[in-house]
Amino acid sequence: TSVPELQLNDGNTIPQLGFGVFKVDPAETERIVTDALEVGYRHIDTARIYGNEEGVGRAIATSGIPREELFITTKLWIDDLESEASVTAAFEASLARLGLDYLDLYLIHWPAPERDQYVGAWKALVELRKSGKVRSIGVSNFLPEHLERIIAETGVVPAVDQIESHPAHQQPEVEAFAAAHDIKIESWGPLGQGKYPLFEEPAVAAAAAAHGKTPAQVVIRWHLQQGHIVFPKSNRRERMAENFDVFDFVLTSAEQEAITALEREGRVSAHPSEVN
Ligand code: NAD
Repeated sequence: TSVPELQLNDGNTIPQLGFGVFKVDPAETERIVTDALEVGYRHIDTARIYGNEEGVGRAIATSGIPREELFITTKLWIDDLESEASVTAAFEASLARLGLDYLDLYLIHWPAPERDQYVGAWKALVELRKSGKVRSIGVSNFLPEHLERIIAETGVVPAVDQIESHPAHQQPEVEAFAAAHDIKIESWGPLGQGKYPLFEEPAVAAAAAAHGKTPAQVVIRWHLQQGHIVFPKSNRRERMAENFDVFDFVLTSAEQEAITALEREGRVSAHPSEVN
């Protein structure tokens, strides 16, 4: 049961399943990420704004896992979008907190359209990639209009767009744009952040019963079969293991489609135009 690797548009590969650390207490992060690495996760998704990059770094350092076997993502916060200098300083600070000498993936966390600085920041990420200190670059919470603009102004297509994505809120316009430009979708809030009764939906519950798996495993499997990169979060080791144990079954196309039919524009968190 090894995790599939997806190929990004820059030629690099990414483990399709990882572990996210949004809202993981900085004081507990080293222990929680150590558990995740022991369970088998090799792809960790953090961000400067989560305040827990140091804990992620300590867990990596003490794990003894060779650096090349890990895939580490962090994100540029909106306060640091301002200039090439501010982007570079924020990147170097994140790298230092993580204790790494290169990053696998660096993302612009939100477009923050009212600031109107994301194009300049994207140019700075392109320069960082040229330096070799980050292998792949991408964005998060970008709508098609934001993606169109950075591509038009730089010719560089982001490797990923990390967006809120779960059965009730699939953002089909972003999906379509991404598919047309070979941008991989990373699903954040893949379990709906526990904010609606996704696991009780008949389409999810029926598939879980049919395969002898849990509703959470069915939803993670749905993401994988949609082609999404996914990194569910849990503080609990038994759930980390549950969420990782999704490679011994396949949803039928009828099951997959029944879950896809749960779309109802059910956003559970902020809209990209609201974070400035
Ligand atoms: P999620 O959908 O992964 O939900 C996490 C919650 O689901 C947990 O706190 C837990 O209560 C529950 N859960 C997890 N496993 C379960 C299981 N097996 N059974 C029952 N309940 C379970 O939400 P998330 O953490 O917000 O999203 C995942 C990751 O995406 C984050 O950790 C972070 O890395 C990333 N993220 C990015 C952004 C962004 O703006 N780019 C925003 C939010 C999250």
